[in-house]
Amino acid sequence: MSELGIGEVGADGAAPSIAFCLMTADAIESATRLCAACGMCCNGVMFHSVPLLPGDSARELSARGLKVKRGKKSRIPQPCPAHKESRCAIYAHRPARCRVFVCLQLEALESGAATEADALGKIREARVLAMCVRELLHEAGDAREHKALATRCEALFTEPLDPAPHVARLRVTLASARSELERVLSENFRPGGTMPCLEKDRALQRPREPPDSGA
Ligand code: SF4
Ligand code: SF4
Repeated sequence: MSELGIGEVGADGAAPSIAFCLMTADAIESATRLCAACGMCCNGVMFHSVPLLPGDSARELSARGLKVKRGKKSRIPQPCPAHKESRCAIYAHRPARCRVFVCLQLEALESGAATEADALGKIREARVLAMCVRELLHEAGDAREHKALATRCEALFTEPLDPAPHVARLRVTLASARSELERVLSENFRPGGTMPCLEKDRALQRPREPPDSGA
């Protein structure tokens, strides 16, 4: 298999990142299984985007199907279009940030602080919470699965707020679910300061209460 996701190793045995050069073969196999079961650093649950770093070619990445948002700091919005069936479709050519990214669960696995089963438990917990947030967004009328979860949540809390009583009630529930998801992601997955696009996420940890919950 040559198309793998973050944290996986190529079938040709080539080490995909500096970080994974340090892992044992068993840990790499465990990481591969965990990433296939997770995908949250590619699918818009953890991040808004992948910032491009020096050495990344926006032109080449665009030619490989990634939508590069060009600017002072060019980035690839998430969910990443290369994330297909829990795999990275451009694994050998992925951006530099993807190559060096290792989440806290993989770090714990590598250091022996967590077993694969421990990490899988954390992944399942976060995925259930993310699913809950998605369902609430759907109920509130937001079906934009092509947008990052935080972006969708932010829209629901942006003025002017939808005054419909059922949406106001959903905002209260969503704020709580989103806050819990953020806590789990921050405590168990996001290495401190790894991705600058987290600032928006942090702001969303303090969602505003709607002026009238309609309850
Ligand atoms: S968040 Fe961690 S376990 Fe999940 S896909 Fe990314 S690197 Fe793998
Ligand atoms: S290019 Fe996309 S799918 Fe591949 S590792 Fe990076 S974020 Fe994930």
